[in-house]
Amino acid sequence: MSYDKDNIFAKILRGEIPCDKVFENEHSLAFNDISPQAKIHVLVIPKGAYKDIDDFCTNASEEEIIGFTKAVSEVFKITGVSESKGGKGFRALANTGSDGSQEVPHFHLHVMGGEALGLRGLRKN
Ligand code: 5GP
Repeated sequence: MSYDKDNIFAKILRGEIPCDKVFENEHSLAFNDISPQAKIHVLVIPKGAYKDIDDFCTNASEEEIIGFTKAVSEVFKITGVSESKGGKGFRALANTGSDGSQEVPHFHLHVMGGEALGLRGLRKN
């Protein structure tokens, strides 16, 4: 399946739909999930057109991969979930494809935390 340029996160990246921005760098954008499953629930996405984590890891440039990784690190710190910032940890996951119940076909990493999560995010509620 090819990348669908009309998916909701592509529209956010084009500025056609607003988002509650947490962090941005040259290659990535992080924003709060519209329907949070935890006190902290941020989505980190690459700016490039990658449909899932498999596509991103396979096809993104080194600069994009480094930029994305740095954005994820910043989100851990900004939100305070990082143990280096006094946080108690978090869950970071990427639902992928139909077996992974991915809804939005633009790679996004969920970062959830701020409270004890149990199994939240690992199954659909
Ligand atoms: P997936 O199931 O694809 O891993 O997760 C998609 C996530 O995107 C869901 O957690 C959902 O709440 C979030 N989401 C869907 N539409 C929007 C939107 O328009 N804005 C924001 N901020 N999040 C969205």
